[in-house]
Amino acid sequence: MKAVTIIGGGLAGLCLGIGLRRRGVPARIIEAGTYPRHKVCGEFLSGKGREVLVALGIEARLSGAREASDVTFSLGASTTAVHPLPSPALCISRWKMDAALAEMFTSLGGELIVSQRASIGAGEGIVRATGRSPQSQEGGWRLFGLKAHAHGITLGAGLEMHFTPRGYVGLCAVEDGRVNVCGLFRSRDPVPALARDWRAWLGGEPGSALYAKLAEANWDDASFSSVAALGLAPRRALLTEEMSIGDAVTMIPPVTGNGMSMACESASAAIAPLTAWSTGASSWDEARLTLSHRLDSEFAKRLRTAAILQRVVVHRAARWVLFQSVKSVPALQGLLFQMTR
Ligand SMILES: Cc1cc2nc3c(=O)[nH]c(=O)nc-3n(C[C@H](O)[C@H](O)[C@H](O)COP(=O)(O)OP(=O)(O)OC[C@H]3O[C@@H](n4cnc5c(N)ncnc54)[C@H](O)[C@@H]3O)c2cc1C
Repeated sequence: MKAVTIIGGGLAGLCLGIGLRRRGVPARIIEAGTYPRHKVCGEFLSGKGREVLVALGIEARLSGAREASDVTFSLGASTTAVHPLPSPALCISRWKMDAALAEMFTSLGGELIVSQRASIGAGEGIVRATGRSPQSQEGGWRLFGLKAHAHGITLGAGLEMHFTPRGYVGLCAVEDGRVNVCGLFRSRDPVPALARDWRAWLGGEPGSALYAKLAEANWDDASFSSVAALGLAPRRALLTEEMSIGDAVTMIPPVTGNGMSMACESASAAIAPLTAWSTGASSWDEARLTLSHRLDSEFAKRLRTAAILQRVVVHRAARWVLFQSVKSVPALQGLLFQMTR
């Protein structure tokens, strides 16, 4: 059997590596970082990706993971009632999850090379799972993400989503009594001194429900991480010569809480075509095109809805209208969840 090289050992790369090893395909992952490590992520995994984790035997290994089965939305000081989620989400830190997956991949006989940044080139046997493509600005805005864990916070629902004038912040409980606080923000000016000011960005405006919630937060400073140069415009898999999965194909706006699911789903979709290539049953181009077609058709609708939702939640008046609508018509929240999955 021919070996597959996966560049990038995040959620997508690790899920693919595990799936290939379960089919006996030789697999190697080259990862620029090490494990465990904190990563900017809402740590709220919701959608079909959970079925992938179960099918690959991964979810059972994620000890300490929590489930979120309901949600509230807040704008300023106002908060909606608690709404049930259409299906429960899995909440676990990337610190814990990625390390558990890396351990599982190697225990299945996969070769994992860490602390090595691979030069990326399209080529037979190479899968790109390198995460988002940096984009300095989008429509004149600089987008950046921040996250940190905190103790001593009691949540009003499995997921609290707070909309702020500068972006949005999601709160969910992960393992060991921690609450993950993660936000996406935008700025016209160069991104400020985040290493110094991150608590103010994540903490919300004085007088808001978010500010009140985090006033007593006991932050784990070591868990702070940030990412800048985010680009959220949807991209199509078929437009590249490479075989890519996860954010390397396209990034869905974080407000949906569906990016990790897409990473798992795209990894799962790549297993059969790559196995066929590895055993000689198909050519590399056939495998690549099969996967790209599948990803583009599977993700098109949710990417379109998510792009509109992202524009709405960062626009002051549109955000207010959406919030009031969700407040008075609770079913709207369930509909939006389903349309972005
Ligand atoms: C603010 C914010 C909040 C979010 N919240 C959520 C949420 O609540 N729920 C959700 O489902 N999704 C969320 N996401 C999205 C989610 O984090 C991503 O969709 C997911 O991490 C994608 O997984 P991936 O494996 O494709 O990429 P990543 O997890 O980014 O992994 C890519 C890996 O590739 C490695 N790499 C990159 N280049 C190279 C190279 N040249 N050589 C070797 N290794 C390389 C990196 O070190 C990294 O480990 C959020 C994203 C942001 C920015």
